[in-house]
Amino acid sequence: MSPEQSVLQAVFGYEQFRGPQQAIVSHVIAGGDALVLMPTGGGKSLCYQVPAIVRQQQGKGVAIVVSPLIALMHDQVGALEEAGVSAAYLNSTLSYDETQDVEWRLQSGDITMLYAAPERLNTPRFLGLLDDLHAQGKLSLFAIDEAHCVSQWGHDFRPEYRALTVLHERYAGVPRIALTATADALTRADIIERLHLEAAQQFISSFDRPNIRYRIVEKKDVTNQLLRFIEREHEGEAGVVYCQSRKRVEELAQTLAQNGIHALPYHAGLPVEMRQQHQDRFLREDGVVMCATIAFGMGINKPDVRFVAHVDMPKNIEGYYQETGRAGRDGLPAEAWMAYGLSDVVNQRRMIDESPAEEGFKQVMRGKLDALLGLAEATDCRRVRLLAYFGEQYGAGPQDDGRPLQAVAGARRLQCGNCDNCLEPPALWDGTDAARKLLSTIYRVHETSRLTYGAGHIMDVLRGKLTDKVAQYGHDKVSTFGLGKDYSEPQLRAVMRQLLATGALGLHKVVSENSGHVFDTLCLTPGSRAVLKGEVTVQLREAVAASRSKATRRGN
Ligand code: ADP
Ligand code: ZN
Repeated sequence: MSPEQSVLQAVFGYEQFRGPQQAIVSHVIAGGDALVLMPTGGGKSLCYQVPAIVRQQQGKGVAIVVSPLIALMHDQVGALEEAGVSAAYLNSTLSYDETQDVEWRLQSGDITMLYAAPERLNTPRFLGLLDDLHAQGKLSLFAIDEAHCVSQWGHDFRPEYRALTVLHERYAGVPRIALTATADALTRADIIERLHLEAAQQFISSFDRPNIRYRIVEKKDVTNQLLRFIEREHEGEAGVVYCQSRKRVEELAQTLAQNGIHALPYHAGLPVEMRQQHQDRFLREDGVVMCATIAFGMGINKPDVRFVAHVDMPKNIEGYYQETGRAGRDGLPAEAWMAYGLSDVVNQRRMIDESPAEEGFKQVMRGKLDALLGLAEATDCRRVRLLAYFGEQYGAGPQDDGRPLQAVAGARRLQCGNCDNCLEPPALWDGTDAARKLLSTIYRVHETSRLTYGAGHIMDVLRGKLTDKVAQYGHDKVSTFGLGKDYSEPQLRAVMRQLLATGALGLHKVVSENSGHVFDTLCLTPGSRAVLKGEVTVQLREAVAASRSKATRRGN
C-alpha cells in the first residue's frame, strides 16, 4: 500500500481518495507545486493534509498552512489532534505564552501541520523561525488555502495575502499548493502571477454541484416571496438568507421569526458573543435559518444546509457561486434561490460608480456584474451559464483552455434538468418593440430638457398617462407619447431591467438644479443603437405578461 493510502485509511478513516485527490497528493508528496480548483465540499483539505503527514514521516519537517479563517483553523486543528496528528495554529486569538509555546514546539520539530494567518508571514519573528527550519531542511510544504484572496479581481481580496510572494522567494524548493473553490479565468491568472505558480501543475475539478437546484425569480414583494419559499419547500430545514445590509438582516430575521421560522441574524455589527452564539446554534440545532450579510459563511462547514436564498443580488458570479455553494455539501438535494429586480441593478451599478477605486478597476467590476445580470436574465439553462462562466462546458467536464470569461458559444442548447429554466422552460415574450419604444422615449424626453426623469415618468409618457409632470414638461407632445399604451408597467419594467442588464441602457449621474441632490438618470448607450435599429431582439419571460393579467383581473 502506498504511504498516502495508508495515511488516508489510518488517520482519516477513508477507504479511497475522491476525484483528483490521489493525483494531487502524489504530485505534492513528490515535491511539485500545485494549483487546485475544487468546488466547496470537494475535499480540498485532504489534498494538503495527507502530503503534510507523509512528508513529515519522511523526515521533511512541518507543513505551513496559510488560512484567513480563524474558525476553520480551530476546527481543523481540533480534528487533526483528535486523529492523532500533531497540529497547531498561530493567530491573533493566542496569548503571548500560548504563542511562545507553539513556537517552541515548532522549533523542536514536534508539529506536523501549523496553521497560520497570512499576516504572520509579514512578521520578522515568524519568518526568523521559518528561516531556521528551512536551513535544517525541516519545512515540508506550504499550503495556501482560499488562494483567491490574493487577487484583487476575486471577490474577497485580502491585502495580507500579497505577503505570500515571500514564500517562493525566500524558501525556494519548498513545494507549494494553492487551493480555491471560486476563481474565474481572470482571478485564476492573477493567483498564478501573484504567487508565482507559473510552473505549478493545475488540477481543475468540475465546478458543477449537481444536487443544487438554481432558481432566480423576479423580485416583487421579496419578504413574502421568501416566506412562501421557505414555508412551502423548506419547512423546518436549515438555510442561509443573504441580505445586503445589516438593517435588512435584522428586519428579515424578525419577520421570519414572527412567522414561526427559527431564524437568527448574523452580521459583523453584532456583538461577538451573539455572533458566536448564533453560529453555534446554526451548526448544532436543526432547522435554523440564518439571515446574514456575506460576513457569514466562510469556513463554516455545515453539511445539511438545504437552501441558500439571496434577497439582494451579490456583486458577481464568483460571490453568487461561493455563497450558493454552501448549500447541500452532503450531496443531497438543495436549492439556491434568488430574487432579483430593477433596484438590484441600479444599486449594484451605483455602488461601483461611487466606490473610490480607479476607473480601470471599476470597469472590470462592471463587466463582472454584467455577467451576473446575464445569468439572472437568462431564459436558458442556468447551470450551463454558470459553468461556462468558469470556463467549463456543462457535461464535458472541466477544462482550461484560456477561453474568455463570457458564455461559451454553442453551449446554449444543453440542459441540466435541475434549474428553474430547465424544469419549467419559460414561455417567451418578444419585448423588442417595447424596448425600441422605451429607448426612443428616453431619447426624446431628454431632448426636451436636461432635467432628470425617473423610470416611472418615462413609462407614464410611453403609456400615455397625462400626469401633472407629463403636462408640466409638455411630454404629451413627444412623438412616442401613448405609443406603448398596450404594455403594462411590469412589462416595461422587465424590458428596462433587461436593457440595463445587457448594457443597451445606462445610468448616469445628474445633479438636480433645484435641490442639488445627485440622481441616477436613464440614458442611452452605444449598445442602444442595435436595439433601436432592430438588430437585436429582446426576449423576456411570459411570466411578466401573466402577472399583469392576474393583476388586472384582481383589479376588476
Ligand atoms: P472543501 O474544503 O473542499 O470544501 P473538505 O476538505 O471540507 O472540502 O471536505 C468535504 C467533506 O468531504 C469533509 O467532510 C471530508 O471529510 C469529506 N471527504 C474528503 N475527502 C474524502 C474522501 N476521499 N473520502 C470520503 N470523504 C471525504
Ligand atoms: Zn438547467
